[in-house]
Amino acid sequence: MGIAAGEVEELFRDAGALQEGHFELASGRHAPRYLEKFQVLQWPARTERLCAAIVERARGLDVRTMAGPTTGGIILAHEVARQLGVRAVYAERREDGPGRVLRRGFRLEPGERVLVVDDIMSTGGSVEETIAAVQQAGGTVVGVAVLVDRSGGAKLAGGIPHFALWEVAMESHEPASCPQCAAGVPLRKPGTTPAPRAATRGTGSAGAGREPDR
Ligand SMILES: [Zn+2]
Repeated sequence: MGIAAGEVEELFRDAGALQEGHFELASGRHAPRYLEKFQVLQWPARTERLCAAIVERARGLDVRTMAGPTTGGIILAHEVARQLGVRAVYAERREDGPGRVLRRGFRLEPGERVLVVDDIMSTGGSVEETIAAVQQAGGTVVGVAVLVDRSGGAKLAGGIPHFALWEVAMESHEPASCPQCAAGVPLRKPGTTPAPRAATRGTGSAGAGREPDR
């Protein structure tokens, strides 16, 4: 059963993952809309539906293994692998430098056919790092599937084919030219609980030094 981009948007919206307001992105830019993907991924039935659409397009690729980057990519790789009857591995951030690596004893046969899967492709960085980790382990990446492509047409190294269930342009602005700032809409940092609840939580410093693993 195929899935239309409109249905993907509806799934995100119904789950509360497509949020509207005034958001400060990790880049420092401001945006009127934000995708909190884990609001969708927390629901196995919704995740199953999205992954079924990936499976449908992946069937002809003779994939042996799914690979995803932490953290959302683990959930997606696992569910796509479950539906295809193959296995899933994941690529974690290197501790000793940039990029990602397969750890946990994951091994690939030489030339093993791997489909890389991720939730949202923004710049393509996590996907590229996962491709490199698979190739370094000896695997062959035969394609990339993402739920949402908001890259505006990113090209992947090596010309590896990729597809998205939903392609969307997410508007953002420099703070100086942000319409929501001008309108006085309260600014929110995604991933944080709106005040004042945040102030009642613990010391407020635990884990604050690290960007979320997106
Ligand atoms: Zn703003």
